[in-house]
Amino acid sequence: MIKLPGLIDPHVHLREPGATHKEDWASGTQSGLAGGYTILLAMPNTDPPIADEYSYSIAATAANKKSYIDFGIFIGAGKDNALTAADLAPRAAGLKMYLDQTYGPLHLENLTFWQQHLKNWPVDYPIAVHAERRSLAAILFMSVLYNKPVHICHVARKEEILLIKDAKEKGVKVTCEVAPHHLFMTDEDIPQDEPGRGEVRPCLVSKKDQEALWENLAVIDCFASDHAPHTLAEKISASPPPGFPGLETSLYLYLNAVSEGRLTIDDLVLRMETNPRKIFRLPRQTETWIEIDPEFSWEIKATNTYTRCGWTPFEGWKVKGRLKRVILRGETVFEDGEIVAKPGSGRNVRLISTSD
Ligand SMILES: [Zn+2]
Repeated sequence: MIKLPGLIDPHVHLREPGATHKEDWASGTQSGLAGGYTILLAMPNTDPPIADEYSYSIAATAANKKSYIDFGIFIGAGKDNALTAADLAPRAAGLKMYLDQTYGPLHLENLTFWQQHLKNWPVDYPIAVHAERRSLAAILFMSVLYNKPVHICHVARKEEILLIKDAKEKGVKVTCEVAPHHLFMTDEDIPQDEPGRGEVRPCLVSKKDQEALWENLAVIDCFASDHAPHTLAEKISASPPPGFPGLETSLYLYLNAVSEGRLTIDDLVLRMETNPRKIFRLPRQTETWIEIDPEFSWEIKATNTYTRCGWTPFEGWKVKGRLKRVILRGETVFEDGEIVAKPGSGRNVRLISTSD
């Protein structure tokens, strides 16, 4: 049995408010717990988007009542909320800037909006950005111009990881994360008969891109799931929304990579606990750990998951390594596939004191 710290996922979509048929704060945090996480940071592209005091309080109220594990809530950067967002910074997981089109209405096309947020957001609080290809080059330049460190979400392409590598070497304050579907799948995995199941942003990319991510593992600060659940009916519809569920498969894909010798346990802990805690300035959770049986071989099946979306792009994948137990603040909250925690036992990470 291996004992590891509780894992942190800095990038998940829990769909509440607005789309609770896909997920809510209860099912999403149960899914996180079953995946070995004890902290989830939730993205703001809900309906309404989390972009002001009112929408933040809707999400925070639901989260306080329903969460099984600790959580943070991002504020979305909109076209007219730079000052409001900055006021909410101490209570937020961070600011999320959508610089390219994805699911939801928070896309910031105009550079003036980028400027307003970068100028106003307090420097001590994290900024996470969705920035692909040329948007990445642009935000790196502006982060230097306004002296605001940025965290680049779900890096997928060779050109992007190489740019971040060079930026880091030049001393630019940038960190980044990669999602498991970009490390373990390529565009060849998009099902021909149901291509909607392969829709995700950034898209599934080429084998060359995937190889560049593995070759530049040292540049990757975090493994984030980008858990983005949609129902199977939505995924196979005429207009499939982008996104994959990932909370209950990420740890296992990485443990399997450890069993194959592609990663070490230290690589995993650095990117699933140490770095996310540092980058997002998260408090330490006392007496909190997870226990793993590294030898247990099994097959991923959506029927055995807690997420409400009911499918996984990794259906039928054979993996080695299984979560046995999760202990949060000294209490067993998950054991042998069963959730033992009570809803509402999760805390907002911005309200946990650092000495707690
Ligand atoms: Zn996302």
